[in-house]
Amino acid sequence: MKSFKKILAVLLAVLMTGAVFAACTKADNNADTTEPSSNATKGTLVMATNAEFPPYEYFEDDKIVGIDAEVAQAICDKLGYELKIEHIEFDSIIPGIKGGKYDFGAAGMTVTEERQKEVSFTTSYATGIQSIIVKSDSDIKTADDLFKGGLKIGVQKGTTGDLYCTWDIEDEKLGTVERFAKGADAVMALTSGKVDAVVIDNQPAKVFVEKNEGLTILDTEYAVEDYAIAVSKDNEALLNEINGALEELIADGTIQKIIDKYIPAE
Ligand code: GLN
Repeated sequence: MKSFKKILAVLLAVLMTGAVFAACTKADNNADTTEPSSNATKGTLVMATNAEFPPYEYFEDDKIVGIDAEVAQAICDKLGYELKIEHIEFDSIIPGIKGGKYDFGAAGMTVTEERQKEVSFTTSYATGIQSIIVKSDSDIKTADDLFKGGLKIGVQKGTTGDLYCTWDIEDEKLGTVERFAKGADAVMALTSGKVDAVVIDNQPAKVFVEKNEGLTILDTEYAVEDYAIAVSKDNEALLNEINGALEELIADGTIQKIIDKYIPAE
């Protein structure tokens, strides 16, 4: 009788664990789960991103996947949080974090001095490059050619590509900057001849150039940058928690593995 009770208890425990796993998987349907959360979590962290930025974040059917989704999932798994990912305009990420709507932002976001006045950034987990896309038969051959005067440069609104081109080209009256909601829209404007070049992060640049014929990425880069996760300045505890997990995941090679999965070595 006693051992029957024991078996029953074990069975019940197994069943319950199964139910918890099932619940976790369901809650995690917005991001890839590298390992199942072990048990009840500390709560849910809401991540803001703009899923128009492959391979860091993009939609696969209605699910947001990519490097940032997996890095965030690995961090949450380590810390014992559920992860919920919300897709918003890139421009709205920092205001949303400041206003407490989102716990953190992961969006291939470059650390800049201006942004550091608004939010805190974690340790950097990836390097980005602002690259220049032109039509294959364009006269623009190097980054310097962008400053020759009279050119229209397409950028994604609110990104560092936008900031640099605004400062270096528009403010200097060397040309104009056309701002698009999505990087893909800027590239479409290039294809149809509405802009002369697009300044955008190198990884989405590669994806867009592959998808559109007759475009090329210049060998000279516009800028080299660090990507990091943004957290509210009012939530130092979370910043420290994320940094702790992130630094372990960098040290044990997990982050590199995630990056390599999406960005094959050249
Ligand atoms: N790295 C760029 C920035 O931080 C672009 C990021 C993005 O478009 N998701 O401004």
